[in-house]
Amino acid sequence: MTKDTFMSAFTFESFKCEVSFNEIVDSYTGEKTRELVLRNNNNENFRAAYLYGEGLKEISRSKSGEKNNILGEFLGIKKNDLNSMMSFFKKYGFLFCLKDYEHFITFHINDVVYIKDNLEALINIFNAQDTNNINYKTLLDSVLFLLLNEKRDIKIEDNICYSPSNNDLLHYIINANKIRFDTNNNIVQIPRGDGGTIPAYRVTDHILNEGINDVIIDEYKDLMDNNDDSLYFLRQIVKSYVTKNTSILNIDECLIIDFLYHFSRRISIISLDNISLDMPFQEEVYEVLIEEKNSDLKQALLKISKYLIEKELNHFLSEIKPKYDANTMRPNWNLPSLLSAMYLSLFYLDSNQAMHRICQNINCNQLFLVSKTNQVKKYCCVYCTNAVSQRRYRQKK
Ligand SMILES: [Zn+2]
Repeated sequence: MTKDTFMSAFTFESFKCEVSFNEIVDSYTGEKTRELVLRNNNNENFRAAYLYGEGLKEISRSKSGEKNNILGEFLGIKKNDLNSMMSFFKKYGFLFCLKDYEHFITFHINDVVYIKDNLEALINIFNAQDTNNINYKTLLDSVLFLLLNEKRDIKIEDNICYSPSNNDLLHYIINANKIRFDTNNNIVQIPRGDGGTIPAYRVTDHILNEGINDVIIDEYKDLMDNNDDSLYFLRQIVKSYVTKNTSILNIDECLIIDFLYHFSRRISIISLDNISLDMPFQEEVYEVLIEEKNSDLKQALLKISKYLIEKELNHFLSEIKPKYDANTMRPNWNLPSLLSAMYLSLFYLDSNQAMHRICQNINCNQLFLVSKTNQVKKYCCVYCTNAVSQRRYRQKK
C-alpha cells in the first residue's frame, strides 16, 4: 500500500494507449468520418485511484502541473475535437480493456461521443438533485435523452464492449396499439358547456391530483386519423397513455408515460429525431415548464430523474465485482474498464457532501468534484486558476 492510495475508495490499473486515426468514407452516404486506431502501450502502466473529495485521479503522475481530472476531462471532450479525444486516451488509456488485442483496433469517434453523452446525462441528473437550485433545462434534456435515445451495443471487433441500459419502455411506447372503445367499459359521459355530454375514456393518472383523467374520445380519434409524420411520436405516447397496462409496467414507468403525455399536451410535442443533450427544444419550452401551473410536471420530472439514477447506475455497476486484496488487507473492486471506474466514482459520490461543479475558466468549463460546503473553489485546477488571473491581469494593463 503506497501513501497515495491510502485515502482512496478504490484503485484501477491498466495501460496508456498509442492512438492515431483513420479517415473513412461511408460507402452509402459518401460522408467522411473518422475512427480512432489504438492499442495498449505496454511500456506505460496507468494507475488511478478514487480519492474522497477529489474524484478519480491518476496516481504518481510525473508532471505535476498537468490536469488530473479523469471524469471532467472525458466529459469535456467536444464532439468534433479529435485531438483532445486522442490526448485523453494517450494520457489515461482507453475506455475499455485492450489487453486481449495485440494489434491495433479501430473505434468510431461517434461511439466515443455516444458513450460520453450517456454518462454525461447521468451526471447532469446527479447534479440536479440539489433541490435549492434545479436547472430544469439540463434536467429535462438529460432525462429525455436517457429515456428516448436509441440504445445500441458497441463492439470492438466482434466483442461487445459497451451495452447501455435497456430501452424497454421506449419499445412499449413505440409498439402501443390503438384502443377499441366499443369493447371497453371505462367510458364516461362528461358534461359539455351546452348542457349535453360528451363521451370520454377514463385513464388512471399518476400526475394529476385526481388520480384519473378523462380523454375525450373524439379528440383521440382525430389524432389517430391524422397521418402527419411530425405527430407520429405524439400518437404513440397517447396510445400508450390510454392503454397503459399496470400489470406490465411498474409505477415509475407509468409515471414516465403520464409525464410524456402531459408534457406533450401542455408544453411541446417531442420528436424522436431531435433527442440530444443540447437544445432539443426552443427556449420558451423551458420557460413554460418552470411556470407555477406546471409544478406537478416538475415534481414528476424529479421523481423520474431519481428512477433513472438508480436504473443507469445499477446497470453499469452490475459488471463490477468486489474483490478483497490480502496483500493490502483492504477492500477493492474488480474493474473491467476505465469507463466502469468512472461509473464507480459516481457510486462513491456522496451527494450530501460533494458535487460536481463547472470550472469557471471559459476555456475549460470541465466538471470537477468539490465539497458542497466549499463556496470558494471556482476552478478545476491550479492551471485554470492561473490562466484566469493572468487573463485578468492582461486585461487590466
Ligand atoms: Zn478548468
